Amino acid sequence: MIFPLYIEKQLDRVAKLIQSSRSGVIFTGAGISVPSGIPDFRSASTGLWNQFDPMAVASISAFRNRPADFFGWLEPLVSRILQAQPNAAHISLAKLESAGFLKTIITQNIDGFHQKAGSKDVIELHGSLDELFCPTCFSRFLMADYVESWLTKHILPECPTCKILLKPNIVLYEELLPPDIWEQAEIACDHADLMLVAGSSLEVMPAGSLPYRCVQNGTKLIIMNLSSTTLDLMADVLLPMDVAVALPEICNRILA
Ligand code: ZN
Repeated sequence: MIFPLYIEKQLDRVAKLIQSSRSGVIFTGAGISVPSGIPDFRSASTGLWNQFDPMAVASISAFRNRPADFFGWLEPLVSRILQAQPNAAHISLAKLESAGFLKTIITQNIDGFHQKAGSKDVIELHGSLDELFCPTCFSRFLMADYVESWLTKHILPECPTCKILLKPNIVLYEELLPPDIWEQAEIACDHADLMLVAGSSLEVMPAGSLPYRCVQNGTKLIIMNLSSTTLDLMADVLLPMDVAVALPEICNRILA
């Protein structure tokens, strides 16, 4: 692909920064899965939130008190994720990891696409739809074992022992991030010499504060996002591009 000279130079700069980093960290958000057809479910401009009040359907109180509303909200998201695949951005990051660049991915996404693309070192801040757990006995179950009867027969996932509804292992509104996962993310950020934000507008807190933590540590910052972010002025390189276009270009430059 041919880009304007200004963009070519920015892509070269990003490639050089990644090549010279020893402990680069990537921070990904909904924008990296939009090219796979997964809507940004926290964004007001996409269908999923236009139909629902997030607190009414995607909160822990909705799961506990109005499970039909909760699972009704989650259903279209889960079926979209099941039908979708990782895109060129996920694949490029996995290639870079296996070549020894940008080891740790910190993601806000719950779709599991980084692992599906082949990335190994992934910190999922908001959990993952791959798993369910019982809020009473804390047994864990694979979503894959329940998803068909849920989506086709509308049988909600239930703990075989406790006979109560299983909770998808994702962080809902009114819930805190799991402390062990958060600590892992902080440690990765504190050891990072480069932070690459890919497809996040850094609006969702506390996740979005991690790149700022890196800036405070003096870590170099690259922001690759279609819309502006609160840290744009602090970025060493700003690349307002679709990540599924930019990351393969950068990957090619590094691995060529
Ligand atoms: Zn149970």
